Amino acid sequence: MSKQQKKRHSGLFEGLKAYRREDGSILLFRPEENALRMRLGAERMCMPSPTVEHFVDAVKKVVVANKCWIPPSGKGSLYIRPLLMGTGTVLGLAPAPEYTFLIFVSPVGNYFKEGLAPINLIVENEFHRAIPGGTGGVKTVGNYAAVLKAQSTAKAKGYSDVLYLDSIHKKYLEEVSSCNVFVVKDNVISTPAINGTILPGITRKSVIEVARTQGFLVEERLVTVDELLDADEVFCTGTAVVVSPVGSITYLGKRVEYGKKRRQLCVWTALYRTHKSTDGSIGGPIGLDCHNRLVRTSLPLHIHLFC
Ligand SMILES: *Cc1c(COP(=O)(O)O)cnc(C)c1O
Repeated sequence: MSKQQKKRHSGLFEGLKAYRREDGSILLFRPEENALRMRLGAERMCMPSPTVEHFVDAVKKVVVANKCWIPPSGKGSLYIRPLLMGTGTVLGLAPAPEYTFLIFVSPVGNYFKEGLAPINLIVENEFHRAIPGGTGGVKTVGNYAAVLKAQSTAKAKGYSDVLYLDSIHKKYLEEVSSCNVFVVKDNVISTPAINGTILPGITRKSVIEVARTQGFLVEERLVTVDELLDADEVFCTGTAVVVSPVGSITYLGKRVEYGKKRRQLCVWTALYRTHKSTDGSIGGPIGLDCHNRLVRTSLPLHIHLFC
């Protein structure tokens, strides 16, 4: 095989964002968490991976080199897509002989075309995103390939995305194609526990911290589809969507709407609007500002890029 016929092997990806503050300076959201997740994924996929320091340094350098593409404060963000790919001229089933770590960036606006309007999800009852013992818990490129069919069918029917159930009982919630899901009932926030089939979202983790800081009870456990249908409120979290409210869920032909007939508790807005301050400094409680950005924290959520 020639160099041109290189086979592409395994691939891991990450996703994070850089924001511009009002004073023009740049914030990165928890890049060392992405670095750690890539290391854990690489371990699962038998790939070597950059150190946390190498990863964060590379992200900073790429962002600084592309800073003219970071939208003004409140107008969007720079999406950062680190990739770790195995390549090489082998036919057999074996780890790749060589690896490439690279980073793409692109300015982005809102993820769902609805923007911050509630999204409409359909519960998938036939296809599954992940199985116990599989790779659903790591950010491998194959996870997205597996959801394309169900997602494109759902989109053709007018839904925003698909919500997956566990593959054994078809009863417990897992997550949406590329974001985690939260269910609110009587002011208690529940989200499926991380068990290997759910991607451990960094936004998920941060939102749990935000909610607990605000005094909410947050449970990480098995959440049934019946609880979903009976919820007061449902929302999704992820780097791309940040926190997006769910307007309706369709399950086996039955559509349940949130916030219309029921009293809208709007836990997501409480989380979303925790702090309108955009200074992102370490010290205050964590929260999301009115421009959909997570800001101010008692934990090192953000790092500042001085350039
Ligand atoms: C990336 C991803 C998420 C969200 O993770 P964040 O770190 O919050 O961006 C959720 N589910 C899947 C399947 C993902 O690939």
